[in-house]
Amino acid sequence: MYIGMWVHPRHLCLDVLERTLSDVVGFLGANSISVFINNMNFTKMNLILTYDNKSVGRESEAGKLYFEPRHDFYRATSIRPQRYKELLCFDLRHVISRAYSYGLEIVAHINCLNMTLNNMKYYMVDNVKEPINYGGAWVCPLNPEVRRYLLGLIEDLATREDIMEIELGEFWHPISPLMRNRITCFCKYCRIEAKSRNLNLSDVLSRISREHVMRKIQKIILHREDKEEPFEEAFTFRNYEKLKWLGKFGNIEDFFNFRTDIVTELLDDMTSIAHDYGVRVSTILPPPDISKALGIDYREIDRIVDLVKPVLFYKILGKDIRWFSKQCLRARRLLKSEGYPGVVALKSMGSNEIQKEVERALKVWRKGIMVYSYSLTSIDKMELIRECITSYGKIKRRFLF
Ligand SMILES: [Zn+2]
Repeated sequence: MYIGMWVHPRHLCLDVLERTLSDVVGFLGANSISVFINNMNFTKMNLILTYDNKSVGRESEAGKLYFEPRHDFYRATSIRPQRYKELLCFDLRHVISRAYSYGLEIVAHINCLNMTLNNMKYYMVDNVKEPINYGGAWVCPLNPEVRRYLLGLIEDLATREDIMEIELGEFWHPISPLMRNRITCFCKYCRIEAKSRNLNLSDVLSRISREHVMRKIQKIILHREDKEEPFEEAFTFRNYEKLKWLGKFGNIEDFFNFRTDIVTELLDDMTSIAHDYGVRVSTILPPPDISKALGIDYREIDRIVDLVKPVLFYKILGKDIRWFSKQCLRARRLLKSEGYPGVVALKSMGSNEIQKEVERALKVWRKGIMVYSYSLTSIDKMELIRECITSYGKIKRRFLF
């Protein structure tokens, strides 16, 4: 069975590298680790793996690279890759070779559009003309500079020895602007591109700006005061329900399709570069119901990339394990490729909750699982996950023979 684990480069610093790798293998029995190669800017979000419950809560910035970039690959763009200086001790090549010695495969994870840059001209713009710099900073995939940067990044990674897979996350239009009842993107590049496809973005804006649209949505969904909310709350039912109603009342299906096209083309470009170098590409996707509200088409993406990994996070999205099971099944049915589900283990989750998740996911996805911990996960919880996986393996064999 395939077991993957998401880790942060902070936990692969050279001084703790051997311990982390041996823990990933020892306590979880993992086959692969996905290393976050550029960062997200959510405080304390990326502290993905420690086994002693120690909190290492430092702020980090999105978009910075955890390896020495090869500047040649970024010539076509004016965006300069920024290196994360705090982690000079992280040497990708060394980490890869050590990981191999533990029998682990390295997957390079990048957060595509979630990238804080000094210049807001790369940012997505919402329907009140504000650059998206709240609940995460997001750049527009139609901005040619952004696109060239991303393609350079893929080539930079794909040409490195021994990276077998590039894992793409955060390539959709963000859900977080919905926290402010706003929607993206209306930057000049989006306007130009929409026009060439006979879609009038001003018309879209007038359809969603009509006051009654938001008022109707607010009547259905309790509206919270406009304030900064923690990242986890961006992924509440309330927020994705807003998207659903926005499409319905605003009558903007054409706009959602337009965004889907943009994302699909970006994925297509990135995948073909990786394939040129014989590197496979996988994508992280939100659960099917949420993907649908965001305009992400599972089937379409499944056709482009080699592997799809739905991330199923039941604790954040609701407390109903039945919902989690339903999403597992729906995702499985939508995908032709094998794929692996990403199961989220949070520090705040009780052992029984983690156990339920892992077991339900394995019932549907028999070949493997990814473990994604947003915060800190203890040795106990790692052992529990391994036990679930092992015992599921036994049950399955009993049924087979
Ligand atoms: Zn745009």
